Amino acid sequence: MTKKMWHNWGMEKDILIIGGGPSGLSTALHLTKLNPHLTPRILILEKMHYPRPKLCAGGLVADAEIILQRLGLDVSEVPHVDASAAHFDFEGKGIKISVPKSHTIRVIRRNEFDHWLAKKTREAGIEIREGVTVKNITPNEDGVIVETDQGNFRAQIVVGADGSNGITRRIVLPNTPVYTARVLEVITPNYPVTPALAYGVEGIASGKGQERPRNDEAFFDFFPVPNNIAGYVWDFPTQINGEPMRCWGIYDTNLLADQERPPLKKPLADEMARHGFNLDDHELTGHPIRWYDPFNPVSVPRVLLVGDAVGADSIFGEGISMALGYGAIAAQEISESIQRSEFSFSGYKRRLVRSGLGQTLFARWVITQIIYPLKWRWFQILLWQFLKPIVIFVAWVFVLNWGKRIKI
Ligand SMILES: Cc1cc2nc3c(=O)[nH]c(=O)nc-3n(C[C@H](O)[C@H](O)[C@H](O)COP(=O)(O)OP(=O)(O)OC[C@H]3O[C@@H](n4cnc5c(N)ncnc54)[C@H](O)[C@@H]3O)c2cc1C
Repeated sequence: MTKKMWHNWGMEKDILIIGGGPSGLSTALHLTKLNPHLTPRILILEKMHYPRPKLCAGGLVADAEIILQRLGLDVSEVPHVDASAAHFDFEGKGIKISVPKSHTIRVIRRNEFDHWLAKKTREAGIEIREGVTVKNITPNEDGVIVETDQGNFRAQIVVGADGSNGITRRIVLPNTPVYTARVLEVITPNYPVTPALAYGVEGIASGKGQERPRNDEAFFDFFPVPNNIAGYVWDFPTQINGEPMRCWGIYDTNLLADQERPPLKKPLADEMARHGFNLDDHELTGHPIRWYDPFNPVSVPRVLLVGDAVGADSIFGEGISMALGYGAIAAQEISESIQRSEFSFSGYKRRLVRSGLGQTLFARWVITQIIYPLKWRWFQILLWQFLKPIVIFVAWVFVLNWGKRIKI
């Protein structure tokens, strides 16, 4: 690395990360872990102030915890609720997954999780500037000019970690197609689970009332698919200020957008009504999720993208573990490019695709292209209710357990 290359321009840094969500913070933490001497050269710009709201159900799979553990971080420090099992159903029947002697999904609130992760990032010596909104990015041969509402910055390398609606991808890759899911979310008080409320009279008659209460379990139900909503309704346990709550929502990849569909909130309202809740009594919020497409570029010279700026998982819109994983891969790419003093990032996509993260994102993309377009009721029943061993095998091998394969 030449002295000239790493000259600091006063308040400006060599590696500028746009966005202080999990992908941006993970990139910084992994860079520091790989190359401690880079720490003072990293700057994160975050447009909001922690603890900032972020619409998200906050479901963490084991891969997220594995990546955080490798960074020396213990997510149990963050207020959370552990779901003892996860159900993958069609019309209330299907597959139940639970992990022996452990939780299946850990549910955090993003205002608390991101605030905690930002605190850990600062404790590692990395500078985060809050309340700075990036307005424009201009890469050129000598560096990147980043214009913000607080003045201009100059950097050698920019990481676009600014989420599904971020500007980095729009500016540096303006002509690439974007695949976005529609997502709605509702928070309600926890349900007082009585068999009658949860399952109705018919459900009890069919023996459902004998099941364990739903209180600490997470549910994904794919019943909207035959109606051209290519996704599912979820119902998670969560907490707000220590109070047990439920987080409900609906995810639609938009893969069947050319077909007639009911309003997105209709299946969600139906599912909530089945459990005694009136959707109209609660605040409904929405946010898109950009999902991963293997054909999309992920960088241009001097600028690389991480997290939702590249794409979340397409089956579920799961993106927190992915965001943490993207940070690890991007940090390796940046570290090596700094050693070479070469910032084309031409190998970043290859590195991503070959990683455990890239493999799961690809597998999930393939699965998405099968399970949603094959939308017929009989197929969905076959998939979720009769092909259990195959679904569990595919999930175990291709969908989960990728965090261990991220080398750092
Ligand atoms: C309703 C909903 C439910 C979800 N549920 C789950 C779930 O249960 N589990 C799961 O794993 N994933 C879930 N996701 C997906 C998950 O939220 C994202 O994949 C994840 O947040 C991606 O992290 P990120 O760091 O890439 O982006 P983000 O978390 O979006 O962070 C981007 C950051 O960049 C900042 N920023 C944006 N623009 C600028 C700018 N111009 N200048 C400076 N800063 C900027 C933002 O303020 C933000 O802090 C859900 C998403 C939605 C919408």
